[in-house]
Amino acid sequence: MSLTEHVAVGLSVDAHKFKEGGPLVLGGITIDFDKSMEGHSDGDVLMHAVMDAVLSAADLPDLGELFPGIDENLDRSSVDMAKEVARHLSVQGTRILSLDSVVIAQAPKISPLRDKLRQSIADCFDIPKDRVNVKGKTFDHMGPIGNLEGIEARAVALVERGATS
Ligand SMILES: [Zn+2]
Repeated sequence: MSLTEHVAVGLSVDAHKFKEGGPLVLGGITIDFDKSMEGHSDGDVLMHAVMDAVLSAADLPDLGELFPGIDENLDRSSVDMAKEVARHLSVQGTRILSLDSVVIAQAPKISPLRDKLRQSIADCFDIPKDRVNVKGKTFDHMGPIGNLEGIEARAVALVERGATS
């Protein structure tokens, strides 16, 4: 087997604005916080970035194409969408080998949430938790993210594509 024929990476970034009033949904978990995210569905910026990285690696349509901003997706949970992405991968015969992600947020603090976030994302894609990593960074009070206007997330996925793709 030639590695280059079967293994692919996908990279993604997403950002959403805060709106007043919690709780905050991030990486499929609900966090007690005084702000939440604007955007379609639950505005789960981390799950959106992870899904787009996975879709890109699998050479499938991106999140916007898969879940257009039509009424039925307006309140759809990102966990539900991630499970659908996982089904697309399984139909294609693609396996996720590794996921890594960074949440850039001045607040809330990500490090105490890391373990739960890893487990939540792993559960959505039905992969072991040790294949998923999440870490938090701040922009040290610089720019819109540093000034608490929103959260940015970046993700990279490594997949092994099915023989038929
Ligand atoms: Zn998004």
